[in-house]
Amino acid sequence: MTKLDEIKDKLKNYDKEPLRFMEVCGTHTAAISENGIPSMLSPKIHLISGPGCPVCVTVTAVIDKLTELCLTENTTVLTFGDLIRVKGSKMSLADARAEGGSVQMLYSPMDAVKMAIANKTKQYVFAAIGFETTTPVYAMVMEEIIKNDVKNLRLLTSLKTMPQVIRWVCKNTGNIDGFIAPGHVAVITGSDEYRNLSKETGLPFAVSGFEGAQLLFAIYALVGMKGQSGIRNLYRGAVTNEGNLQAKAMVNKYFEVCDASWRGMGMIEGSGMRLKEEFRKYDAGSTDLDSDVMPAGCSCARVLTGEISPDECPLFGKGCTPENAHGACMVSTEGSCYNYYISGRRKR
Ligand code: SF4
Repeated sequence: MTKLDEIKDKLKNYDKEPLRFMEVCGTHTAAISENGIPSMLSPKIHLISGPGCPVCVTVTAVIDKLTELCLTENTTVLTFGDLIRVKGSKMSLADARAEGGSVQMLYSPMDAVKMAIANKTKQYVFAAIGFETTTPVYAMVMEEIIKNDVKNLRLLTSLKTMPQVIRWVCKNTGNIDGFIAPGHVAVITGSDEYRNLSKETGLPFAVSGFEGAQLLFAIYALVGMKGQSGIRNLYRGAVTNEGNLQAKAMVNKYFEVCDASWRGMGMIEGSGMRLKEEFRKYDAGSTDLDSDVMPAGCSCARVLTGEISPDECPLFGKGCTPENAHGACMVSTEGSCYNYYISGRRKR
């Protein structure tokens, strides 16, 4: 029997007290569904998806600002994938585009700079949304903007960081037994950040990669550490204690910590990043975008905090499907509702 087979056997036949582990990263949520991980676990081990899908936690005020900007004469909003379909308080970027708004999808962030340089008479706004993994990319965009003296490209930022929201979850939900920490975020931040969180919260953390076997090892590590603090870095090839110092320095050059508003959780102190004062002329109006209007009947707020499972939302699979998404968690391929729906996963 290989080590992996042994772990699979132990996880499937676990029969002690029920455990609830949260994966806080949207990419983990997708990987857990794709690999059918829940079906490999004992019914006494529950995986809960947390607030780590960037599109899902973006408040409607940000979408509203982007739709307003794309409908402004001579202004194009540049964005990545899923955000385009998420509804603001009135409409999504896709709706605004149907009404004549200018929205363009980006495949590489540097394309934003190239576009702005090639079309100097047009104004561009780049929707800079994401976590610690993508903030260094936006810092590189800033570097290029300044190096090339680009005057017609600004960022609308809604950048979030993991530690404060994990603290929020621990304080406000209180029924989590451990966290699967996001491997790619930890590549940037380092595992020390999770070591500190573990000491503070008294809960175990396992830093994991995104393959099925890596996730099983992480869950097994959490089972072994139940009831105590501690960290297991199971993504050692990529994650060091201190993280990527070069990427951190680049982020700190352009961005500073700020309070941030999260869908379903409200304002969380120190949980975001914004452009520093000296670079604010490159900001397209990101400050005070705090309000959040949930689509009627949508339970995303409760799903994002692990309070309910996606299939416990009354609209799940009825008024809300990936083809006709009612809330952000069903739009994004990293959203809990989307992943529950496409994998057929249900609360056990
Ligand atoms: Fe919102 Fe749809 Fe998820 Fe319900 S199923 S919480 S409506 S996204």
